[in-house]
Amino acid sequence: MLMKNLQITAYGATNFVGRSAFTISDKDRTVMLDCGIELVPKKLSIAPKGVDAIAKNVDAFLLSHAHIDHSGYVPKLAQKGYRGKFYMTHPTKDIVFRLWLDHLKIEGERHWTEDDLDKTFNRIVTKKYHEKFKIADGITAEFINAGHILGAAQILIDWDGQLILYSGDINDRQTPFFDGFEYPEEEVDILITESTNGDRYVPERKKIDVGFRLLSKQVAESGNKMLLPSFAVGRSQELLTTLAFDDDIDDVPIYTDGMINMMNTLTEAYLTKDWVSDRFLKELKSRKMNSPFDKENIIPINRAQSPHQFRRQIAKSKEGAIIVTTSGMLEGGPIHTYLDFCAGNENNTLGFTGYQVEGTIGRELYDGAEEITIFNDRRFNHPKKIKVKCKIMKFPYSGHSSAEGLAKYVKKINAKKVILVHGVEKNQLYLRNLIKEYSHPITLEENKPEVFKM
Ligand SMILES: [Zn+2]
Ligand SMILES: [Zn+2]
Repeated sequence: MLMKNLQITAYGATNFVGRSAFTISDKDRTVMLDCGIELVPKKLSIAPKGVDAIAKNVDAFLLSHAHIDHSGYVPKLAQKGYRGKFYMTHPTKDIVFRLWLDHLKIEGERHWTEDDLDKTFNRIVTKKYHEKFKIADGITAEFINAGHILGAAQILIDWDGQLILYSGDINDRQTPFFDGFEYPEEEVDILITESTNGDRYVPERKKIDVGFRLLSKQVAESGNKMLLPSFAVGRSQELLTTLAFDDDIDDVPIYTDGMINMMNTLTEAYLTKDWVSDRFLKELKSRKMNSPFDKENIIPINRAQSPHQFRRQIAKSKEGAIIVTTSGMLEGGPIHTYLDFCAGNENNTLGFTGYQVEGTIGRELYDGAEEITIFNDRRFNHPKKIKVKCKIMKFPYSGHSSAEGLAKYVKKINAKKVILVHGVEKNQLYLRNLIKEYSHPITLEENKPEVFKM
C-alpha cells in the first residue's frame, strides 16, 4: 500500500477549552472540524489562530455541535473564501443560528458580518445520525450521537479507508434526553478526543437529581425563592425536565426566563426517536405529555408585556417559586434582576447547576464572595454592588464525560493514535495516567501540524 502523510492541525482548544478548530489534510484535500471562538469573561472573544489564511483551501467543513466555542467563527470561513458546504445535524442548524444572532448582538460584526452569516446559512447541509455522506473525493463522514446537547455529534471520517474519529464534546452519563454517547461500530485509526473533565469524577445524574428536586421543592414550598442560573442551551431543558417529571413538584410555580424559553420551543421540535432516547419518549408518553415544558406550573416570562416589571414583581412577591434563568455563569441576563431583589434574603437559595469559569461573577459567588457587582442591563452600564446573604447550593451537573468515562472511551475505541484536545493541562495529565497502558496520547500545538504516516 502506498504510504501517505496525513496532517492534523489545531487552531485552538489544544490544552485549554475554547476556539475548537481543527483540520485534517493530505496534499490534495483538507477537511475542517469545528471553528469556534474563545469566550473570555468581561472581554471580547478570541478568534482561532490561523484559520483566515487557510479558509480558501478547505474542501469540506463539519460542525460537531452548536456551542459557540465550536461554532462562533464559522461564518468567517465564508468571508475568507471557503466555497463548500457546512455539514451539521438538523438540531445543530436550528440552535447555532440563534447563537450566531446572539453573538452579533453582543459583539457586533468584529469577527464576521450579517452578510457572511447569510452566505453560511444558505450553504448548510443537514444530516441525521448514522447517515454516511461523501464530503470530498475518497472521503465520507458520519455523525454519531455525543450525548452532550441536542444534536451534538461525534464525527467519524473515512479517509481513503483510514478512520478518524473526532469526539466533539461527549457525555457518558445518562441525562434526561440521552443515554450517554454512542460508540462507532468501525475500528478507528486516529481518535481526537476532548478531555474537559480529565481529572474530575462526575456523579451520576440520578444521584444529583434527588437532592436537586428535594431542595428546589423545599425552598419553594416554604415561600422562598430557588434561583437557578442555567445555560440556555441544554442544561436548562435538562433541569426543567427533571422538575417536570417529579409529581411532587406540581404545585409550585417554575418561572423560566431569558433565552431558555426560545430554546425550549426549539427543543420541542426534536422530541422524536431520531434525536432523543426511547427512554425519554416512553416517560413522556406514560405521563401523557407532549413536551416536558408544557406543564401548567412552568411559566415562561418572555410573554409578559414588560418582562422587567414582571421579574421585579415575582422577585419581590411573598410567593415561593423556582426560577430557571440565564445566564449560567451570572455574567448578565435576567438573573441580575432576580439577584438584586432576592440575594439579600438569607431564606432564599441560589443553586449552581453548571461549571463556573474563572473570572465570572458566578465563580466569585461559587468561591464564597459575600458581595458582588451586578448590572441591570446587558451593556454593563449600571453597576451596583449587592450583599449576598442567601444560601448557596452546588449541584455538580456536567455536560461532559467523567474522567473514568473518558478513559473507558479511549480504551474501548483502542485507536492506534490518540490526540487529547479541549481540556486544561492538569486534566490531560491525569487522563494520560488513566490510559497509559493503552496509548500514548499526543498533544497538539496551535498551528503546528502533526504528521501521521498512514
Ligand atoms: Zn459543548
Ligand atoms: Zn466545547
